[in-house]
Amino acid sequence: MSSALDVIVVGGGLMGSAAALQLAEGGMRVALCEARQLAMGASGVNAGTLSMQTKRVPLIPYALRGYEWWKRAGDAVGFKETGSLTLAYTQAEAEGLAQRMSARRNAGAPIEMITATAAHALEPGLREGLAAASYCAADGYANSSLTGSYYRARLRAAGAEVHELTPVQAIIPLRKAPGLARRSSASSCATSSSADAGSTSTITIFCWGVRRTLPDPNL
Ligand SMILES: Cc1cc2nc3c(=O)[nH]c(=O)nc-3n(C[C@H](O)[C@H](O)[C@H](O)COP(=O)(O)OP(=O)(O)OC[C@H]3O[C@@H](n4cnc5c(N)ncnc54)[C@H](O)[C@@H]3O)c2cc1C
Repeated sequence: MSSALDVIVVGGGLMGSAAALQLAEGGMRVALCEARQLAMGASGVNAGTLSMQTKRVPLIPYALRGYEWWKRAGDAVGFKETGSLTLAYTQAEAEGLAQRMSARRNAGAPIEMITATAAHALEPGLREGLAAASYCAADGYANSSLTGSYYRARLRAAGAEVHELTPVQAIIPLRKAPGLARRSSASSCATSSSADAGSTSTITIFCWGVRRTLPDPNL
């Protein structure tokens, strides 16, 4: 591994690969260490669904940006814009659906409520008795098995070092960087082939999450 790096990203799933790519395209010297090969975890085996209707309201702005990202990647990730329906078969379900989708539409998602007749025109195989439906023309899917090869090519083109079959065994703090946030400190990564990659920032991306209280769990 090069000794002149700004950042080492640990974990080459979607999150790590996208972060490393953004940093490399922004001009930083980046190395990405992946224990197996890129996107061999959840990122390479998931259903690939790109859905605004199933996203929580606070996540809609991110889903919109992610959607544009997949759309630009196009055939290289098997992107398909198919549209999607969510169905309500009772009046109570229809009211709940309208409320949930209205919140998403207000957050920017291109979702509309449509009549049962319009839903049947889009999907003739639907069971009879539909009360209402919501429709998002922008929903679709990508082929997750193409994720790894897509990011490998983009990362290399952006000048990032991609180290596959390179599990990081330890992150060793070297010094606290004065003036930086508490969790930003210089560190080095230990792998089986390299015990010291110099003084760099390390981003560990394979298990992260933010626990927060949402105003309404149904939204
Ligand atoms: C069955 C299933 C279906 C899903 N369907 C969808 C869907 O339809 N639509 C959707 O948007 N999302 C879906 N998801 C969620 C989506 O797949 C994940 O949110 C996403 O892939 C997470 O990416 P990640 O980079 O955080 O994690 P991962 O893809 O798990 O990447 C983590 C990487 O870190 C590497 N790693 C771990 N430890 C080390 C180490 N010490 N050194 C180096 N590397 C290390 C791992 O090998 C792995 O490659 C689905 C998930 C699953 C499991």
